Amino acid sequence: MIDMHTHLDLYPDALKIIAKVNKDNIFTLAVTTSPRAWSATSKVFENYKNIYVSVGLHPEIVETKANEVNLLIDCIKNTNFVGEVGIDGSIRFSQTLSLQTSIFEQVLRECEAQNGKVISIHSRGAESNVLDLIEKYPKCGIPILHWFSGTIKELERATKLGCWFSVNQQMINTKKGLSLIEKMPMNRLLPESDGPFTMIDKKLIYPWEAINIINEISSLWNLREDDVLIQFKDNLKSLLNQTESF
Ligand code: MN
Repeated sequence: MIDMHTHLDLYPDALKIIAKVNKDNIFTLAVTTSPRAWSATSKVFENYKNIYVSVGLHPEIVETKANEVNLLIDCIKNTNFVGEVGIDGSIRFSQTLSLQTSIFEQVLRECEAQNGKVISIHSRGAESNVLDLIEKYPKCGIPILHWFSGTIKELERATKLGCWFSVNQQMINTKKGLSLIEKMPMNRLLPESDGPFTMIDKKLIYPWEAINIINEISSLWNLREDDVLIQFKDNLKSLLNQTESF
């Protein structure tokens, strides 16, 4: 159906599953972790019309990829889709926090300079920092907070700033995740797999399984599953319509 955030190039069986992803999903956003990976992946996926590849630089690996920042900024003008970018505030990456912040700011500034982009954003443990920067660049486009795990207050702030959200099965499986999803705006929510980094019962989640959140969303929203599907499709349509003015 729809997968708004997957690392399709990192699945061990990526080449074998591309055709099925393209057939089963009407839209898949294959995020990348570096601009070089984006160039390579774009070439491999170019004939699959339902798969979009976004250019990114994952905050967890900025230390080894900082030399690709100029390339990243340069590539942004060639696509409507940017990600995975953002800031990770975990202790493990605290040494690169200022570098991460500086790169994320450069990305948002460039997205704004380019009239807006769809941006898939990582914000774990750095939600307030991420929102501060989104606020500073209000014309950066459509920020989508992927796997948002901040506080309810931060969620409310993100919603006011116009952020979208992509949510996965692992979020659904936690109380905190569910309580956040419940408060996300229905018309700005889309499914994601975040595979191959997410697992259910020790099995990888594939892009065509991102939609498996539908059962719980249907109870949260008090809607029939068919109507949840319609809502997701409408959301995707409204997102893609907005990219036409980018
Ligand atoms: Mn990811």
